[in-house]
Amino acid sequence: MALRQLIGLIAPPLCAACGAGAGSLEPLCAHCRRELRWLDAAVVAPSGVPLWAPVAYEGPARGLVRALKFRGAARAEETMAAQIAANAPPGTLGRGHLVPVPLHPRRLRVRGFNQAERLAAGVAARAGMDVADCLERTGPSATQVGRDRSERLVAPHGTVRVRPAAGVPRRAILVDDVVTTGGTLAACAAALLEAGATDVTAIAYARTPGR
Ligand SMILES: [Zn+2]
Repeated sequence: MALRQLIGLIAPPLCAACGAGAGSLEPLCAHCRRELRWLDAAVVAPSGVPLWAPVAYEGPARGLVRALKFRGAARAEETMAAQIAANAPPGTLGRGHLVPVPLHPRRLRVRGFNQAERLAAGVAARAGMDVADCLERTGPSATQVGRDRSERLVAPHGTVRVRPAAGVPRRAILVDDVVTTGGTLAACAAALLEAGATDVTAIAYARTPGR
């Protein structure tokens, strides 16, 4: 018996959004799954970077994102990656490399993993693609004092740059769990384009609707 099944017997899995009982394979209960707001194939560009995401960042999607980000929930990760891979409009995936949006080192230390990297690995496995983990964040994070407001808007958690000596794919598809303003995507795209990428787009599990 797999460890996860064993844990499921001791503590039945709960819905990541509402806390009700959920099936052993699904992170959300049936009710919350129905409440997910699916977006169409439209590609939006909230900050100039073409972005596609399968669901709106509201309701149960917030619960899933939280489960992945703060508990590293494997079921949330698998479901989110599967929904991206299964619903991506033609041309979104396939060619190019998946590039996880980097986490600031301080956050990485606290959390222990980068949720965008987990998601990128899950999508890569399903879409037969490779991951190029070539970006990093450096410098102070916004929690430190002494930064002016305009700088925080551009780079909320440090500055994004290409890792020293890392190869940058020509066609890069940025991966993040959720995109709201798109400011981070813009910073990532700028770093990639400056380092030789010619085509930068993005996918996320959820995005703010109406952008
Ligand atoms: Zn629920």
